[in-house]
Amino acid sequence: MRIRFWGTRGSIPTPGPSTVRYGGNTACIEVRDATGTLLVLDAGTGLRELGLHLLRDGRNGALEVEVLLSHLHWDHIQGLPFFRPVADARNTIRLHGPHQSRPIEEILGVGMDEAFFPVNLDTLPAHFEFHDLQPGATTRIGPYGVRSSAPLFHPAPALAYRVEADGVSLVYATDTEDPLSGKPNPVVDLARGAHTLLHDAQYLPEDYKQGWGHSTVPSAIDVAVAAGVRRLVLTHHDPDRSDEALDRIGDEARRAARSRNPDLEVIVAREGLELPVA
Ligand SMILES: [Zn+2]
Ligand SMILES: [Zn+2]
Repeated sequence: MRIRFWGTRGSIPTPGPSTVRYGGNTACIEVRDATGTLLVLDAGTGLRELGLHLLRDGRNGALEVEVLLSHLHWDHIQGLPFFRPVADARNTIRLHGPHQSRPIEEILGVGMDEAFFPVNLDTLPAHFEFHDLQPGATTRIGPYGVRSSAPLFHPAPALAYRVEADGVSLVYATDTEDPLSGKPNPVVDLARGAHTLLHDAQYLPEDYKQGWGHSTVPSAIDVAVAAGVRRLVLTHHDPDRSDEALDRIGDEARRAARSRNPDLEVIVAREGLELPVA
C-alpha cells in the first residue's frame, strides 16, 4: 500500500506564507494498493487537487472513486463539489461514512442547500452512491478490507478505520479525543499491531480544548505506544500552527516517542508527502 497526503489541516483551510510546507488544505489522503486501486480517506479541500491530479494523470475513462469519510464536519467534506470527477456523468463516486441521526445522503444534501451553496448534491452529473457505516462493522471496498472503530469521542458521530490490503494495515483516526472519562479509547483496540497509524494531533497540552473532539500530540503518542504500531503520522494540524511550529512539534514528538518505544517512527504529515505502508 502507498498513501499520499492532499490535505493535512484540521477545522479550516489555512493558505498563506506560514503554512506553505505542511499545507493549508483540510483532510484528504489518497490510498493505493499494489494494483493501484484508489481509496480516498476524507473529502476535505485537498480533494480538489487530487481530482485535478486524477485527470492530469490521463485517466480519461470512466472513474470509480471510493471515498471513506471519518464524519461529515465541513473540513472533511468541503472538497466534494470541487472534485472535478463529479462533473462527468460517466463517473461513479461511492461515499462511505458513519450513519448520523439521518442517512448520510440526506445530511450531505443539507449542507449544500440553497442558502449555503449554489449547486445541489443531486444535480451533480456523476453517479453517487452512499453507504452508511455502523461502529464496529467490517466491510469490503474493492480490494480493501475495512473495519470501523467503536464510536469516537467526538461531538458528531465519527469513526476511525482500519484499512487492510497487500497484507498490511493502515489506521485512520482523525477527530478523536483521548477519553477523559477513563473509558477505553476505541482507537487503541482498532490500531493494535497495525503498521501505520494516522492520528489526530491538533493540540498541544497548553492549547488543548476539552470537548472539541481532538487529541493532543502526547495523547496520539500514547495511543500509538499502547497499540504497538510501527509508525505514527501526526495530522489534522491546528489552523494556528505554522510550519516552524510543526517542525518543533515533530522534533519533540520523536524525542518523546523514542523514550517510550525506540522502534516507533513518528512523522508529521505534510501536503504532498508520499509514504509506503509495507
Ligand atoms: Zn476535522
Ligand atoms: Zn470533526
